[in-house]
Amino acid sequence: MTHPSPHPESPSRDRFPVVVIGAGPAGLTVAGLLRAASVDCLVLETESRHFIERRPRAGVLEEWAVRGLEQRGLASGLLERAGRQTLCEFRFDDSAHRFHYTALTGRHHFVYPQPLLVTDLVREYADVRGGEIRFGVRDVAVHDTGTDRPSVSYRCPETGRRRVVHCDFVAGCDGARGVSRAALAPRHARIARHDYGVGWLALLAEAPASADHVLFGVHPDGFAGRMPRGPRTTRYYLQCPPGDSPDNWPHERVWTQLRRRLAAADTPPLTEGPLLEKRMLDLHDYVVEPMASGRLFLAGDAAHLTAPIAAKGMNLALHDAFLLGEALAAYLTTGDEQGLTGYSRACLRRVWDYQEFSRWLAEVYHGAASGDPYRAGTTLARLRRLFSSPTAAASFAEQYLGTGDHL
Ligand code: FAD
Repeated sequence: MTHPSPHPESPSRDRFPVVVIGAGPAGLTVAGLLRAASVDCLVLETESRHFIERRPRAGVLEEWAVRGLEQRGLASGLLERAGRQTLCEFRFDDSAHRFHYTALTGRHHFVYPQPLLVTDLVREYADVRGGEIRFGVRDVAVHDTGTDRPSVSYRCPETGRRRVVHCDFVAGCDGARGVSRAALAPRHARIARHDYGVGWLALLAEAPASADHVLFGVHPDGFAGRMPRGPRTTRYYLQCPPGDSPDNWPHERVWTQLRRRLAAADTPPLTEGPLLEKRMLDLHDYVVEPMASGRLFLAGDAAHLTAPIAAKGMNLALHDAFLLGEALAAYLTTGDEQGLTGYSRACLRRVWDYQEFSRWLAEVYHGAASGDPYRAGTTLARLRRLFSSPTAAASFAEQYLGTGDHL
């Protein structure tokens, strides 16, 4: 909900054309684009710089997203250090089936851990382009976004006092647990939500992957996934009941289940190692529609969540940020409001397309373990079709890589 204006005697009198809430991939990209267009902005972030530069999460970037960062001068670190992925492998019925999407399309994925991208974006915005970020802020609230004089207030970590920043626009980029979504919905937007009814234990292992491509294990015990994240770390996922606790998954149980669910004839053993992160995700998606109201524009996970089923979230966050950063810069430098007017519609086209693909892929991952022989049978039919029908393979590759012309 939008809060009423703070008390007029509030000590702070800061003013910026744009306040960006949240220093994740979306917020930092919006802020970087504004600075590049000589539009001043302030980024407010609840965590410390040290924390956000180390928080492990995503790692797979689609080619168009990397090209988009490159065109905007934000990809130099990434292009030097990112790995390239050209295939993924499904394991089912005790056999391995490789899907060579680069051979089919000429396109690939980039693998670049999210903390490295965030580090690059913070550096570019704050150290190179001289932008301001206030870290460690508390109790952020959004005010008066239905007027042309919005503001954002927060509690200062050093003094404990409330500060107010006045602005022309607020970019709500504060992720799934931020405050800006609540400032928009429910009065100005509808939230569509989908629950998958399954949990995933998200794991980060200190061990190289035994091969540098992604593995999807479709098994009657539940889905298992393996995503390489660099020379020293690998992300794994294990399907589990929703609401399960990471405490129920000691080291031995994790590796036993990973070995079992990712087993296939004639494949090398998994490289095991200590588990650096063990986190439970109850898989769900949501979409806020429209993504803007008045002077408040949402971007990234603040506006839409896609469960990490198809590795789409960070890509969507970047897509929104390219459009929003450029639309705000155009309006604030030339008065051209076309980008802002069409922002939500332009973002949501790709968002809904990726949501639909995630649902399709979720059924492939989870159908075999649903306990329903009908769903298990249709899951295996989908997988067999993928490896026998060139049309099905082309369609999967297009969606997996996010390359459709219609997007
Ligand atoms: P965030 O990265 O969440 O950034 C929001 C920022 O706002 C954070 O720094 C947060 O601290 C800050 N914040 C929160 N509340 C406030 C507040 N009130 N005031 C100020 N600041 C605030 N996506 C992919 O594309 N590929 C993948 O392979 C992939 N794997 C994933 C694996 C896991 C385990 C998870 C959890 C996610 C994965 N994702 C993946 C999704 C991806 O991480 C997110 O979609 C992405 O981080 C969204 O970026 P964002 O900038 O919108 O939000």
